[in-house]
Amino acid sequence: MGTMGIAPAQQETLLPGREEVRAVAVKVGQRGSLQTVWRSLSGLQDHQVLVQTLQLGIDATDRAVYEGNYGRPAAPDGSLVVGHEAVGRVIAVGRQVHALVAGMYVVPTVRRPCADPSCSPCRAGEPDYCRSGAYTERGLWGADGYLAEYFVEDAAYLVPLPPPLKALGILTEPASVVIKAMHQIDLFARRMRAWHPQRALVLGAGQIGLLATCFLRRRGWEVSVFDAVSEIDPKASLVQAIGARFLSADIYAVEQLPAVMGSPDLVVEATGVAPLAVEAAKAVGEDGVVLLLGVADQHQRFDLEAGALEKQLVLGNRIVCGSVSSSRGDFEEAIGWLSTVEAEHPGWLGSFIAKRIPLEEVAQAYRHQKGEIKRAVWLAD
Ligand SMILES: [Zn+2]
Repeated sequence: MGTMGIAPAQQETLLPGREEVRAVAVKVGQRGSLQTVWRSLSGLQDHQVLVQTLQLGIDATDRAVYEGNYGRPAAPDGSLVVGHEAVGRVIAVGRQVHALVAGMYVVPTVRRPCADPSCSPCRAGEPDYCRSGAYTERGLWGADGYLAEYFVEDAAYLVPLPPPLKALGILTEPASVVIKAMHQIDLFARRMRAWHPQRALVLGAGQIGLLATCFLRRRGWEVSVFDAVSEIDPKASLVQAIGARFLSADIYAVEQLPAVMGSPDLVVEATGVAPLAVEAAKAVGEDGVVLLLGVADQHQRFDLEAGALEKQLVLGNRIVCGSVSSSRGDFEEAIGWLSTVEAEHPGWLGSFIAKRIPLEEVAQAYRHQKGEIKRAVWLAD
């Protein structure tokens, strides 16, 4: 933004002495297009908040954006400022903002409602259930993300984070996705007078699989986790540290799992590998629930005995359910849940974050080494 005459007073107070802030963007669909860009911060509206980004987590979806395989631009030139798992500090608030004050830590939600007046979930503040498909997601889908020194957001989309959780706050978004999904189980339990599920199989020991495992263990479930890594991988230790069983693909085929662990009442699919989603539906026991949380490559094709699978689902009252994104309420619940888990298993959540990469070396944060759960970008203390 050029300086034409005297800048409005409101803009001058936004970030004294600075017209633009550093951000990191891709050209959507172009591998290797990650670059530093400069973005102007416009004046703060009454309901808005200026936030300094402190840390930002990188997950598998972010890596897909980085690789050019996912995302929708936020600007006409095809660019998108990346990043959706953020922790920030409130720097300034608009005149109508009363719930947040400068110095507080916050986590921003990700999905924003569509503009369709007939989309009742978006109108009711639950854009994660958007029916029009015209929603946006900051850092992923049609709206700039949080990998910037500062960002501006409506107070309604900022969830306060207690200071002791500052270093773990980037796990709020994935935890909120898991919490939303796990609430489906409570709904399905109500369909029967006596459903006493006890055994769960989790496919994939990434952050979603591990958080789901922890959620289920805290509720007393017996959990087995299946992953491609070996039994001596750090992921296996993370699974065992919370009392779950690790089953390596080095030793077991996915078809063998029900015989090895006992018929599961719940299968959580957290890999996004389409054949595994089908195996999840085959593996689940009578009256069981399959939760699909991974997003598969839509062009993947393979042979399937559809008749046998359909018969098994019907004759066993089995439920297959997909779940994506989360709402503000899920974020609030996730923050309380993370506090409890950290108190019960100190350091367990923190060990998800293998490396914190400074902004100057941001591309390193998109690398993924075997045995690592995730990397983060460190922007400020
Ligand atoms: Zn909508």
